[in-house]
Amino acid sequence: MKKTSGTDRTVTRHWRPATRAVRGGTWRSEHGETSEALFLTSGYTYDDAATVAARFAGEADGMTYSRLQNPTVAMLEERIALLEGAEACRVQASGMAAMTAALLCQVSAGDHVVAARAAFGSCRWLVDHLLPRFGVETTVIDSAVDGEWDAAIRPNTKVFFFETPANPTLDVVDLGYVCDLAKARGIVTVVDNAFASPALQRPMEYGADVVAYSATKLMDGQGRVLAGAVCGSQQFVDDVLLPFQRNTGPNLSPFNAWVVLKGLETLAMRAKAQSVSALEIGKLVEPRVARILHPGLPSHPRHELAVRQMPDGTGPIFAFEVPGGREQAFAVLDALQLVDISNNIGDSRSLMCHPASTTHAGLSAEARTEMGVTEGLLRINIGLEDVADIAEDLDQALSAAGL
Ligand SMILES: *Cc1c(COP(=O)(O)O)cnc(C)c1O
Repeated sequence: MKKTSGTDRTVTRHWRPATRAVRGGTWRSEHGETSEALFLTSGYTYDDAATVAARFAGEADGMTYSRLQNPTVAMLEERIALLEGAEACRVQASGMAAMTAALLCQVSAGDHVVAARAAFGSCRWLVDHLLPRFGVETTVIDSAVDGEWDAAIRPNTKVFFFETPANPTLDVVDLGYVCDLAKARGIVTVVDNAFASPALQRPMEYGADVVAYSATKLMDGQGRVLAGAVCGSQQFVDDVLLPFQRNTGPNLSPFNAWVVLKGLETLAMRAKAQSVSALEIGKLVEPRVARILHPGLPSHPRHELAVRQMPDGTGPIFAFEVPGGREQAFAVLDALQLVDISNNIGDSRSLMCHPASTTHAGLSAEARTEMGVTEGLLRINIGLEDVADIAEDLDQALSAAGL
């Protein structure tokens, strides 16, 4: 396999973001293919026994088994690291595989984790149920109140874990404040950046240690595959994450890696265009509903911070609350003609869901109330359709539901 400048770090680290998104990480085989090759292989062959022995001993570069290395997967890892501004990245089979690996690779019984209460349902499950089963203490806080982070720290606090903006209530965390606090106290920050993507927000610029993704969302962006990613320093990835990942095997398939590589080529354009439409639609929806949770609107409690942390757009997703509870929320969903009822986000299609009965149905009613996931809450992902068509559909659906 011929390496081209796509993996020559001295060259690619100087490329501007748009160039990194299209060319970063590309390796070309002896055929000189234009688009990245898809290596659907689980294993590798060797010219002689000494070669494979050297590779297993770590004395020679080269592939040995696709749970450990795969050329297509390696291209994606290098491209995501370049977009994130991270020293290294490893990809996983889904966003949840990424979050699980990012936490379990570094905590042990007796450690303490502080996590944001507003979070994707399965992320909350890791914090509320999985970690405590293995003797890891957890504390859940209101991540948008800076003082709660400080107050939750114990002598054994190892990790801060949060999303910003958070699913589904769009809580915004002050990245600079929380990362500085963590650094001063020797705590590792793990940021789930799925709602923003590296096109809109790069938490490492604020000092985040680990940035983790559901690449299923904006990175694929076309609703095709599940994928996840964990970015960090070379030392974290090599010494902390890799021993866990190589031995537990939450690997991403080369095919799915290839699909996400293609998605990254258009990520910035999609994320920015969808953010513009989401702001326009948010402004139309705001006067019609009881409450809107949109980081791009001045009514958001941390609007100024959100715009500072995401200057190129606050993302395609927002939530709003209808006064008539579940019945009225379902009436809005059932009246939609263009926007699909779907719980996915980051897709190029506009999608709407009722978090209390779908993404957050697995949580206790108390946990939902505490997070602000009310019965009248609806979450929408604004896609790449003509914004006038999305506006017309929402107008008629809100009217049909009596709003
Ligand atoms: C979707 C999502 C996840 C989980 O990702 P999967 O790819 O569905 O496993 C984790 N965190 C956030 C914020 C998400 O939106």
